[in-house]
Amino acid sequence: MKFSNFSIRTKLIVLLGATSAMALLISAVMSLSLTFVTQRNESMRHLQQISDIARENLTAALAFRDGASAARMLGSLSTNPRILAAIIHDDEAQQFSAYVAPKANQKALALQLAEVSQLAKQQHQQLFEQRLGLESIEFDYMYAVSPIVFEGKTLGTLTLLSDNQALKERVSYFVVMQVLISLLTLFIIVLISIRQQKIFTAPIFHIIDVMRNIAQTKNYTVSVETIQNDEFKVLYRHFNDMIAEIRERDALLSRLATTDPLTVLANRRHAMEVLQTLVTRALRKQEFFGLIMFDIDYFKRINDQFGHPVGDVVLKEVAAILMHAAREYDLVARMGGEEFLVMCDHSDVETTHLIAERMRLAIEAKVITLDTGKTLRITASAGVYAVVPVSDDLDAPLRCVDAALYHAKESGRNQVSMWENHEK
Ligand code: GH3
Ligand code: MG
Ligand code: MG
Repeated sequence: MKFSNFSIRTKLIVLLGATSAMALLISAVMSLSLTFVTQRNESMRHLQQISDIARENLTAALAFRDGASAARMLGSLSTNPRILAAIIHDDEAQQFSAYVAPKANQKALALQLAEVSQLAKQQHQQLFEQRLGLESIEFDYMYAVSPIVFEGKTLGTLTLLSDNQALKERVSYFVVMQVLISLLTLFIIVLISIRQQKIFTAPIFHIIDVMRNIAQTKNYTVSVETIQNDEFKVLYRHFNDMIAEIRERDALLSRLATTDPLTVLANRRHAMEVLQTLVTRALRKQEFFGLIMFDIDYFKRINDQFGHPVGDVVLKEVAAILMHAAREYDLVARMGGEEFLVMCDHSDVETTHLIAERMRLAIEAKVITLDTGKTLRITASAGVYAVVPVSDDLDAPLRCVDAALYHAKESGRNQVSMWENHEK
């Protein structure tokens, strides 16, 4: 699995954990090496101090070649359990006196001593003429070879061999402490990052939820809010702008899809949808449902006489009259050309006829004033059909209301004709 495919939550935790671990590792290595150097110097200084005291005491014994007192003095080193061996060499590199700790591993000690003696021999000039000591810390042991000087003359050397136990113990103690502290710190950092990742992920999850909701419900009236004053605020603002834009376009599209641009009435498509709903409901409730179809009389002449734009003005005027005369819950639609359909829910034959007649009279009474100052009057004919539906089929009622309109035209126009009056 690729890191880039992990969730943002996991990425944040891993990233914080990894960088913290790296920083802790570097600081641990640095502090451990510092500790090691300090502890190493401390151990060596301690060995040198023992050597200084011993040499002071040994000077006379070596000067007078008093082997017994030299051996006794070396023997007193047994009080220090870290000292493995102590050897005095005279100025001819001959062993003068020696002490070997009883518990020392003889084989290892012999090897270590051989190595140190070899080195001391090689560095003879440094030890005897320049009176400089030799010292080193090896993996298993440490040593200090120092000249024994009496009245300006180098009498010999004292070699002290000690184990590294104290150094090793102290360094391992620091390693363990360092590891424990680092692990604890890392644990706390990961805990904090698990808690704090919400600052980054919560606003993302919120916006994802909102988007999912919009996709499911197609409800664009929502908006997102955040109290955080960071990039998420910007993201949310742009998201809200985008949703508002979609909302506006949605509204525009549905308006364009359902309305007739000239008269702003419902268009034929929308009228058919509403008609279907109304007929179906009337059928279920067994209620009356009324339809009125209006057609402007001799409209072609108006176009011919005054021009198409005037025809448009007339269409708009008629639309306004019909809207005004309709009841609140009636729907007026332009079916095309100069034909208008009025859907009257919960309206019997008589009521529908009344509405139609009211509309016809209003059209007849209207005086349309043109831009030129000229006035114009028009009339319209209407067919009326009202029934308690027996099926949810739309063809039959539309055919009936058309037939009624045809009858109104045939009977001399500017009148309302009921469908019953001329059945078949
Ligand atoms: P009738 O009394 O029999 O209804 O006669 P009419 O002249 O009104 O009938 P007809 O159906 O012959 O004419 C309708 C005219 O409506 C024809 C067409 O040019 C015009 N028309 C259709 N749509 C529009 C429109 O959007 N604007 C304008 N100005 N005229 C339109
Ligand atoms: Mg007409
Ligand atoms: Mg017509």
